[in-house]
Amino acid sequence: MRTVNAYAAPSATEPLVKTTITRRDLGPNDVEIDIAYAGICHSDIHTVRGEWGPIQYPQVVGHEIVGHVSAVGSAVTKHQVGDRVGVGCMVNSCGECEQCVAGQEQYCLKGNIQTYAGVDPADGSITQGGYSEAVVVNEDFVLRVPESLDIEKVAPLLCAGITTYSPLHHWKVGPGSKVAVVGMGGLGHMAVKIAVALGAEVTVLSQTTSKQEDSLRYGAKAHFATKDPATFEELAQSFELIINTVSAKLDMKAYLGLLKVDGTLVNVGAPSEPLEVPAFALIPRRLSWAGSAIGGIAETQEMLDFCAEHGILPETELISADQINEAYERVLSSDVRYRFVIDAATLA
Ligand code: NAP
Ligand code: ZN
Repeated sequence: MRTVNAYAAPSATEPLVKTTITRRDLGPNDVEIDIAYAGICHSDIHTVRGEWGPIQYPQVVGHEIVGHVSAVGSAVTKHQVGDRVGVGCMVNSCGECEQCVAGQEQYCLKGNIQTYAGVDPADGSITQGGYSEAVVVNEDFVLRVPESLDIEKVAPLLCAGITTYSPLHHWKVGPGSKVAVVGMGGLGHMAVKIAVALGAEVTVLSQTTSKQEDSLRYGAKAHFATKDPATFEELAQSFELIINTVSAKLDMKAYLGLLKVDGTLVNVGAPSEPLEVPAFALIPRRLSWAGSAIGGIAETQEMLDFCAEHGILPETELISADQINEAYERVLSSDVRYRFVIDAATLA
């Protein structure tokens, strides 16, 4: 067992504090990773604040992890000491059900093991995430991070990147696809960059026009303020696919009005409050309302390689561990451009 520095939530209502946690001894199929950087996802905040249900405290979150392999178990074949690697939202799954066999471990029929706040099958403990100096993970859930991607910026691809890449692929976005991205935050800005790289015509739907310049710089064709009711008239029946990344409850009926016949609105945003969809918002144009969870391991590798090939990186703001609580407040007020990344060296 190894003791490492970390930042943990002591309860749903207190700020995160510096602490230590233990990492298990390496099993034969385990990889130990010295963490270099960890992104802050809005899911971290939902989780530690108990917004998705009760959790056990203290809890270390963080599921956008990059670093270097520092040790490998005796049977490990996929990774070597020194390799630059990443870990996303999952650290295990049953490996045997039809979803795991199909490479969709995120939909494991027995439930995938989340990187934090899950129950680790290795020892029954609660999994602890990436706001820490090191982590031990089964080699099958460790990704290769291409050398061309700046290690200081790449971490958010492990959640924000794959969570937007997966639905864009599933709904076959390609050249000329008319796509809208709702919410220009961590996930939203990655959705824009990836959809643009796939050749789509992308429109950003943000609360205000304050992020318009960035949207256009990332390749979006247009940026509209959703606070302006005229937006919903002007863009009526304009899109084939809408990716909603918003962490709060939205008026689904208004957004469904922006879809063409046969269009789909995919919810990746996961507000604690239920969303409401009137049947007659869907029926008259044969619309679909869908959800999507992260992506499979092979698909995550494909996304990392795609981002390397297209030179896609998140826009990040590097912080030290003692700035995490302040960063949370800025995420909550939509004041992040566009992902906070913790320098794990500052945990020492
Ligand atoms: P984020 O960086 O906070 O971005 C969310 C964006 O939504 C904000 O930047 C803001 O964009 C917009 N927004 C926030 N509050 C709003 C409100 N009250 N009304 C309208 N728009 C609002 O969060 P994130 O890390 O991208 O995560 C987004 C959501 O996805 C979270 O709920 C998270 O838990 C979830 N998530 C889901 C998955 C999955 O697998 N499905 C994976 C990761 C995260 P503007 O400033 O442009 O309006
Ligand atoms: Zn996340």
